[in-house]
Amino acid sequence: MKISETMFCTSGDLLASLASPETAEEESQKPLKGEGGRIVPVLLPLPLIGPYDYLDPGLDLCPGDFVRVSLGRREVKGVVWGAERAGEVAFEKLKAVQERLDVPPMTEALRQTIDWIAAYTLSPQGAVLRMAMSAPAALESPTTSLIYRLAPALHPQGQAHARDSDDETAQPEEKTCETGQEELEIPWPKGVRATAARQRIVRFLQGMPLDYPMAPALLATETGTSPAVVRGLAETGLLERGQQEDRVPINSPNPHFAVPNLTERQANAAQDLCKAVDSGAFSVALLEGVTGSGKTEVYFEAIAQCLQQNRQILVLLPEIALSAQWLDRFARRFGVPPEVWHSDVGQAARRRTWRAIAEGRVAVTVGARSALFLPYPDLGLIIVDEEHEQAFKQEEGVGYHARDMAVLRGRYASAAVVLASATPSLESQANAESGRYRHVLLPERHGGAQLPKIEAIDLRVAKPGRGQFLSPALREKLLKTVEAGEQAMLFLNRRGYAPLTLCRTCGHRLECPNCSAWLVDHRLRRILQCHHCGHSMPYPEQCPACGAEGDLAACGPGVERIAEEVKTFLPESRMALMVSDLLRSPKDVAALVAQMARREIDILIGTQIMAKGHHFPFLTLVGVVDADLGLSGEDFRASERSWQLLNQVAGRAGRAEHPGHVLLQTYEPENPVIQALLSGDRDRFPREELIRRHRAGMPPFGRLAALLLSGPDAAQVDECALLLARRAPREDGFQVMGPAPAPLSILRGQHRRRLLVKAHKDCSLQQHLRAWLSDVKLPHAVRLRVDIDPHGFL
Ligand code: ADP
Ligand code: ZN
Repeated sequence: MKISETMFCTSGDLLASLASPETAEEESQKPLKGEGGRIVPVLLPLPLIGPYDYLDPGLDLCPGDFVRVSLGRREVKGVVWGAERAGEVAFEKLKAVQERLDVPPMTEALRQTIDWIAAYTLSPQGAVLRMAMSAPAALESPTTSLIYRLAPALHPQGQAHARDSDDETAQPEEKTCETGQEELEIPWPKGVRATAARQRIVRFLQGMPLDYPMAPALLATETGTSPAVVRGLAETGLLERGQQEDRVPINSPNPHFAVPNLTERQANAAQDLCKAVDSGAFSVALLEGVTGSGKTEVYFEAIAQCLQQNRQILVLLPEIALSAQWLDRFARRFGVPPEVWHSDVGQAARRRTWRAIAEGRVAVTVGARSALFLPYPDLGLIIVDEEHEQAFKQEEGVGYHARDMAVLRGRYASAAVVLASATPSLESQANAESGRYRHVLLPERHGGAQLPKIEAIDLRVAKPGRGQFLSPALREKLLKTVEAGEQAMLFLNRRGYAPLTLCRTCGHRLECPNCSAWLVDHRLRRILQCHHCGHSMPYPEQCPACGAEGDLAACGPGVERIAEEVKTFLPESRMALMVSDLLRSPKDVAALVAQMARREIDILIGTQIMAKGHHFPFLTLVGVVDADLGLSGEDFRASERSWQLLNQVAGRAGRAEHPGHVLLQTYEPENPVIQALLSGDRDRFPREELIRRHRAGMPPFGRLAALLLSGPDAAQVDECALLLARRAPREDGFQVMGPAPAPLSILRGQHRRRLLVKAHKDCSLQQHLRAWLSDVKLPHAVRLRVDIDPHGFL
């Protein structure tokens, strides 16, 4: 296997290096000099390469400059990278940089972040740079448009100037033709026809400030003429042509727009965060508070503080597409919405936002994890909301965790970092306990709202009826809630109608042809679908194996099946499904959330997208259909995730004056997660789980890396996995487990084998991995993916 040298920069444990930050190298912005000429290293946004050498053809290039260079026959945009370069390639063979692009240079802080992420995730620097150049159009010179103004000799201001007078009475407003006073004589040049339309244009422009730029189309509309007339007038010299940069104005959030009355506790928390912002230095705070305690309200104050300092602010949300309520709230607090950045933002908006951020004109951006790589010249505050969310881990390409990298970005940018959650990740919890992060707590709900009462329904005792999934106790509570005119929510983290379909005649299970996974019955869309590769087929009439007709049976429930069941005993209730595959766009989600908030829905049935941050004041009952789902599994974070998700779902209930009630249906009431939820002791689960992790040497007390081999031929992949395992370094504190088939052993026709590396906290994981992997040659057909701090274990 070939791994480019550039993958092997410095290595380090994120937290270790946070404990002892290397002092950032002072890098002067002086041009770089190579021997006998100027050689500049240029990093290109391509995988598998480090910086390449180019000649500086007298452009005085500095580190961070965006440049255009040729690579083979292509033209590529890149960034002048880092310090001076001793030429490795013969001087004569080097190509010259073609052009410096007209955009602010990439800051040293961002370049350091990129280098660090590359080293940490064992990714090529170019692959990381690519994420920071995700709006290539923004690097081009801004477009300009044609504009016109009146020849100064015809304008009152121009004439006043010519008379060398400061006479302020020559205000343009007073000279408009509407007022009819002091209309200027128009000194038409000889031979130029003074048509009525032309006169209208001149009179109009005399009423505008002299330098007021007018686009031809607008000028024509305003004067009731046509662009052709405008052009014709310009030909005569009475109008002057100019070019104006197309700069869309950016909203300015106002820190004083709607200042809330914080409770004393909230005010203290806000003050803590504001002080951190004021210091202008790097710091991390873990803002922990139960759902509804006002975390958002509190970190908004830190944003307000940072706005007053004129530094930039980045808010990371796990699923920006679901955050309509958040955006509304921001606008209500600060008067205008923030700039938004995620993968669904269109090219034109990307270009505009990226550039405006680089120019320092954007104060607040809210975005998905990719927003970390935006070109902020002066980032003062980073907020990671719902910091425990798995969505912050990127699973494809460069496998970084946006929460951890936000801390890193904050360090290099000297920014305050705030991690907010009701159920912090155990990593952050451990950092708060060790004093590495400040722990800012909001222990109670705002406005006296009580946390919901949580009870378990033991399904071994309170059995649902045949072919049903809701126990009598939950049914009764649902009926009562709807009768009382309150709202209920049923949570099941499973899309579709049923996770498995099997033939009652021959026992055949309907599986995906490309993956080792069942096809999920999506009855509303009349298809069977694989949730891993997306393969889908129409629901068959007969068993594909034995041909038996009409004997296919749905096994287990998905949300659609729960909805069907609710209809049988609450036929009149207004019900809605909240599932990603039935909601096409963020707009649909927002519309449904708004409907629920207006109480036009009695029962909302859905998956985890329903659990995220929504505030429904009249929701009093949350039923968890299967609280055991996700409690166990391959993933050592299964319980942690379950704890977080169930807390979040439960947190939807009773957020206003009406008390909330949560019912957990379970076959395993003694499970530590369920027990912790029932106990009402919020610290219990993290406390116990940290002890379990510590004993097992698992994160945050040990470090993990996953190696995933995949290829079309099972035997070949097996062979490579074994070879890799045999070559594994035998070091203290570096343990290799596997190979074993991945839980999803076939995905998209690729056979998958996993090795898991478990290392001591103080073992240099990356260094060992590099040494090991650079030593193993794999055939072309077999791919190896290395995932540091893995979060997905499929
Ligand atoms: P969290 O982010 O912790 O879930 P939120 O900030 O969303 O909590 O607050 C929950 C609800 O309480 C929101 O509707 C919010 O507007 C309201 N709220 C919280 N604090 C205050 C306050 N000091 N004044 C008015 N409303 C508040
Ligand atoms: Zn599939």
